[in-house]
Amino acid sequence: MLNGVEHELAIRLRGVVKRYGPITAVDHLDLDVPLGTCVGLLGPNGAGKSTTMRLLTAQSIADEGELEVLGFRLPEESKMARAQSGVTPQLDNLDTTLTVEQNLLVFAHLYRIARADRRAAIERALEMAMLGDRRASRVDKLSGGMRRRLLIARALIHRPRLVLLDEPTVGLDPQVRQGIWALIDALRSEGTTILMSTHYIEEAQRLADTVLIMSHGSAVASGSPSDLVLEHAGREVLEVYGQPARLAEVEAQAKGEGLQTRGTGTSISILNVDGATSFPAGERRAANLEDVFVLLTGEEIT
Ligand code: ADP
Repeated sequence: MLNGVEHELAIRLRGVVKRYGPITAVDHLDLDVPLGTCVGLLGPNGAGKSTTMRLLTAQSIADEGELEVLGFRLPEESKMARAQSGVTPQLDNLDTTLTVEQNLLVFAHLYRIARADRRAAIERALEMAMLGDRRASRVDKLSGGMRRRLLIARALIHRPRLVLLDEPTVGLDPQVRQGIWALIDALRSEGTTILMSTHYIEEAQRLADTVLIMSHGSAVASGSPSDLVLEHAGREVLEVYGQPARLAEVEAQAKGEGLQTRGTGTSISILNVDGATSFPAGERRAANLEDVFVLLTGEEIT
């Protein structure tokens, strides 16, 4: 609620459950994506991010709960929701026998863009994806990063109000990832609403206004990256290096003082040490979203 007026939501999930036999992939999930914001679903592998994305496109049907996308109820009104949304799947399903431009044209038809507007729509998509000079290349001649940019551009062809990006940079080299981030950031500044799943902490930190951390199908925390860091890890973290026995000692001392810790293999990080001086020498550093992620999901970063 903002000034007593409920923020208009592009996505609203309440108590959503999705089971696969004995596995509960999504477990009573609540999720709000306000219009005009970028929300990151951040979680380790198996947390339920992809399942949530599939529920939002009605590729999967929830067992329980309420789902609304752009004011349409799912699954009943999923066709209407899909017409105003752009979706990029995790797996590249581009037609590799066609050129970049032809791939975009196919989607311009699918989304029923009027003939008179098709050219402009394709040019805009090419420009956003920085693929203007590769328009005539067959998709199988493109690099992995270019293919991913095309996959996103294809989802934007009909100027959707909402874009769903499932792990937009998974499997790409770090330097290639930045090209995708620039594209997502440009979309964001145009005011397009974005929901993005990712297991890359840096991606969520850089792009998302709000991050929802998922673990075992549920939301374990949500907020802006900086609020989450402040709330769960404080301002300062003390990182102590040493042999396992020494680290165990430091961990016990921290716990004894009511402080939380996270391991990194060769060190132990004591969270929320802001101002505390009774600790052994170590490196003091600013707390970050990775600290929060590890604390809340129990995952180690490799
Ligand atoms: P994430 O995208 O966060 O890695 P997923 O949504 O893919 O997580 O998976 C969540 C859980 O649901 C996992 O335990 C996964 O094995 C299980 N799961 C996902 N899809 C299926 C399916 N089609 N059949 C059976 N189990 C599934």
